[in-house]
Amino acid sequence: MRIKHYIQPIVVFLTLNIVLMGLFVLAERKIVSETKENYRYIAANQSNIMRDSVDTAIARVYTFSALIRANNGKTDFFDNQVEFIYKEISQDSGIPVKNIAIAPNGIVKKVYPLATNESLLNFDFMDTSQEGNEEAVKAYKEGKVIVTNPFKLVQGGVGMAGRLPVFTKKDGKDSFWGLITVTLDFDKMIQSFHLHNLEEQGVNYKLWYEDEKGKKVTLTASKKEAVDPVSYEFDIQNLRWHFDVAPKDHWYSRTQGAAILIVIMGMSLLVALLLVDKIKIRNVNEKLEQLAHLDGLTKCYSRHYLNTVLINQETGEWNDPRAKYSLAIVDIDNFKNINDTYGHNVGDQAIRAVVHVLQRYVRAVNGDCVIRQGGDEFTIIWNHISKERFQKKLEGIVKDVEKIKFPQYEEMHLTISIGGEPYAPQGSTRYSELLSKADKKLYVAKENGRNQYVI
Ligand code: GH3
Ligand code: MG
Repeated sequence: MRIKHYIQPIVVFLTLNIVLMGLFVLAERKIVSETKENYRYIAANQSNIMRDSVDTAIARVYTFSALIRANNGKTDFFDNQVEFIYKEISQDSGIPVKNIAIAPNGIVKKVYPLATNESLLNFDFMDTSQEGNEEAVKAYKEGKVIVTNPFKLVQGGVGMAGRLPVFTKKDGKDSFWGLITVTLDFDKMIQSFHLHNLEEQGVNYKLWYEDEKGKKVTLTASKKEAVDPVSYEFDIQNLRWHFDVAPKDHWYSRTQGAAILIVIMGMSLLVALLLVDKIKIRNVNEKLEQLAHLDGLTKCYSRHYLNTVLINQETGEWNDPRAKYSLAIVDIDNFKNINDTYGHNVGDQAIRAVVHVLQRYVRAVNGDCVIRQGGDEFTIIWNHISKERFQKKLEGIVKDVEKIKFPQYEEMHLTISIGGEPYAPQGSTRYSELLSKADKKLYVAKENGRNQYVI
């Protein structure tokens, strides 16, 4: 097989590869984008749970704000109510509460439960040198709830607090009474979100916020990093938190991807190889066909070609219905003598020399051809040729064959006789009839002394 025969399989291989890989990439992108959408949903869902829990805790503490207003700043009710609200918060939000404190003018006067929170008594929320107090001042200044990010508590541990400013009416005007704070145990709060469930389901996560300096502060994260995560941001009152999630493997399976790529390459290669085989078989068939169609000695057409390609074997008609063939039978004169005198090899050379002359008188593009019928006999057909040109050609052939010279055998002379049947629109144009008429004329040419044509 020549290089050009490999071009088609290579093109098919490359095209198939490109098309299939393109489809694979598109499919993979779709899968990844759908997976990311699912993860975004997981992140949103989890974020909403976290936000709702903190919001619920803070909303419960608002009750105190209303009670203080109703009691004109008195806090006697606190001791009766606080235990109930404390439990309610834990039940409703699911977050264990570290303490609830009330601080008239910002100084803590009551805290529940007192145990483990004693150090909070008389703590001054307006002292901004202490952690978690800037938010308290802000709550007072802005007149609304401010939630802190987790910070170290004076009584130990890490907490997250909601600072509620309370205003009472004085002379018909709102006047700052003090603060109510609810502090959530941060570690227990995170535990209450059951984030480890995500990890067990193969989801890596990170809960984080950006501090005033723009630095990312991690609140909690899975053991393994969430790589190339989808991120969901949500607000808890004044806070903006971010929840990143990513699958513990990649967004797509690399081994699966590699396997699919190998399958694609393999399939393309297989198709290309099948094509190579098909082309090989086609080439061999073409060669075999050519060999059957060509005469071995002279390389002009064989009878097989005539009988299969030119003539319909069943009907005996020419295969080309538009053909207008003129036909001539050429036979070398006294060829036996040449064989006998000079040997078979020289005889072969003589046959080839004659064919060489005959080929000069036909034009393949026209549908003309020279056919070796066998031995020293040839049939020539010309398509769409006038009787005059036909005659001229036969005349030329006879003369040119006479001129053939064999330098080694100068005394050897070749002549031929031709019987020719020109195309006759009125008469029969069937091969068998043209042949038999031409054959009769050939006989006449031989009878008349050879080296001539008869039409
Ligand atoms: P005529 O003028 O009547 O045609 O006489 P001829 O001797 O040519 O007689 P004929 O055409 O019957 O003889 C053909 C001879 O051609 C017979 C055979 O020995 C010889 N021959 C047939 N095929 C080949 C071939 O392939 N090579 C050679 N060298 N001779 C062949
Ligand atoms: Mg002969």
